[in-house]
Amino acid sequence: MSKAEPLYRLQLIDTEIDKIVKRVREIDAAMRNNPAVNHAKQEHEALQKVHQRAVSDHKMLDLDARSLDEKIKGEEERLYSGKIKQTKELLDVQHELESLKRRRASLDETLLAAMMTVDESRAAEQKCATALRHALKNWEEDNVVMRQEDADLRKRYAALVEQRKSLAGAIPAPDLNAYVAIRNKKPLAVAAIRNGACGACGVEQSSQMMQQARSGSAIVLCPLCGRILYGA
Ligand SMILES: [Zn+2]
Repeated sequence: MSKAEPLYRLQLIDTEIDKIVKRVREIDAAMRNNPAVNHAKQEHEALQKVHQRAVSDHKMLDLDARSLDEKIKGEEERLYSGKIKQTKELLDVQHELESLKRRRASLDETLLAAMMTVDESRAAEQKCATALRHALKNWEEDNVVMRQEDADLRKRYAALVEQRKSLAGAIPAPDLNAYVAIRNKKPLAVAAIRNGACGACGVEQSSQMMQQARSGSAIVLCPLCGRILYGA
């Protein structure tokens, strides 16, 4: 067995561990936070506010209409009470009444438009609430799948850590240190030789280097990328 072979096997384990750690982090982030749900929530909150504002606008207009009705009623009572003796005062009250009734008619149109805004904003808000429920349901379904994947990955991770421990324990310390030093700089520390070239950077290796890597009496580094070369 060449000196590089156990390091190559260690590299395979470490690469798989790296992948698992990355995926577990991705799953964790995806289970905590879902962009589709966030988006639907924001939209729904915004539309809720629009609807609440429409309802309160309509309410204010309705109060205006009631107070105008009261005023009209008061003026009419005054007009027909028989208490007004002066012609000028009578005309003034008539004018005031006409003016109030014009305002009231115009307010009716505004009220109708406000009622339509209330209905439209309620429909938009409900549509968005449905979209939000869908997004939450999809997320929950995804989470069930991801929880299972996460559990599987953690099991595999534990097994790999065990394998790594026994493998690393059998590697001479200087070799292991060389491996760790390269791994600190780049995730792939050991490159398999493929078609006479370094499998990582692609630089061609001399026949002497290939021979050394295969015979395995010493660790051979790729002259270009500095990785440990492994010749199967
Ligand atoms: Zn290389």
